Amino acid sequence: MEEDTSRWGFETRAIHAGQQPDPRTGSVIVPIYATATFAQDGVGGLREGGYEYSRTANPTRTALEEALASLEGGRHALAFASGMAASDIALRAITRPGDHVILGGDAYGGTFRLMDKVMTAWGVDYTSVDLADLDAARAAVRPNTKVVWTETPTNPLLGIADIPGLARVAAGAGAKLVVDNTFATPYLQSPLGLGADVVLHSTTKYIGGHSDVVGGALITSDDELNENFAFLRNAVGAVPGPFDAWLTLRGAKTLALRMEKHSDNAERIVEALVGHPKVTKVYYPGLPEHPGHETAAKQMRRFGGMVSFAVAGGEQAALDVVARTKLFILGESLGGVESLIEHPGRMTHASATGSPLQISGDVVRLSVGIEDATDLVQDLLQALG
Ligand SMILES: *Cc1c(COP(=O)(O)O)cnc(C)c1O
Repeated sequence: MEEDTSRWGFETRAIHAGQQPDPRTGSVIVPIYATATFAQDGVGGLREGGYEYSRTANPTRTALEEALASLEGGRHALAFASGMAASDIALRAITRPGDHVILGGDAYGGTFRLMDKVMTAWGVDYTSVDLADLDAARAAVRPNTKVVWTETPTNPLLGIADIPGLARVAAGAGAKLVVDNTFATPYLQSPLGLGADVVLHSTTKYIGGHSDVVGGALITSDDELNENFAFLRNAVGAVPGPFDAWLTLRGAKTLALRMEKHSDNAERIVEALVGHPKVTKVYYPGLPEHPGHETAAKQMRRFGGMVSFAVAGGEQAALDVVARTKLFILGESLGGVESLIEHPGRMTHASATGSPLQISGDVVRLSVGIEDATDLVQDLLQALG
């Protein structure tokens, strides 16, 4: 990282970290370096930046990585082709056959599948526990535990894990704490500052923010871990193209503004849902009765744009609600400017059916967008009937 951006506020870093005007042309926006390879001045004579081949490094991707490192308060960031590519590299760089991973109870379905179907086939075992419970986390530690992997807030029930507490459990076990910060984003939560070793993002979600690109990232201040991640990423080629990196970087510039509006709108919706006769439960860490509220209030700036709720009348009633919204688009994914609604039991979490991670059929998940809050509330109220 060339300049010290740490003295800048978050919004300034989002717009300027890693994003100086192009030295040759003055282009204010980092160009899309659509090139596979770079000219050398004599064999091994790499030009400024040391670029050689775009699988290894590309200037548009470097700009994104410097911005992400700065936003998360980490020394290093690496961008990936997807959040799952980042997860795969993180797990395989840290573990070896015979090792053990502790995975949060309601982990993202794709993370669960990677662990349960791919990593186990390579001899890496795992235990799935509710990481909101630090005693349960401690009890799951084995002599060969190398990773504690948590999301907070979790998906789709918005459970909260105590990051400093888990950092102590991981350190005591000689394991690395990986925090999937996709839901909170670096604007709302800084896991590295709270003791995490690695932050993971699906930049597809809030960081990209416009549902137009898939990507992932790993951020760490541990030089050796970063070197291992970079080696493995280059070895397997799990990289984003320059246009994807550019779109993600463009999205990241407005992250702070968007997260404020996502949080504002989510609060308005929660207000409308709590006490509604057709709603039996609202899952939002901003609610004082949420079991993780106190921890969330300590480690998060605000509570974000994800809201889940249970509908009176069970699964059919929940399916009716998701079919009736007009503004909320029925679809998977989250974190974009547009509001989305989905039924986790039948959609994002269908693969968990029959497992301990199964989501109750009456639950509906919202990714609250940045539209007019009154319009969003009205849409939900008409859908609830
Ligand atoms: C979407 C998501 C992922 C996976 O990211 P992709 O970009 O879809 O590969 C991982 N973790 C969480 C919390 C997610 O929401």
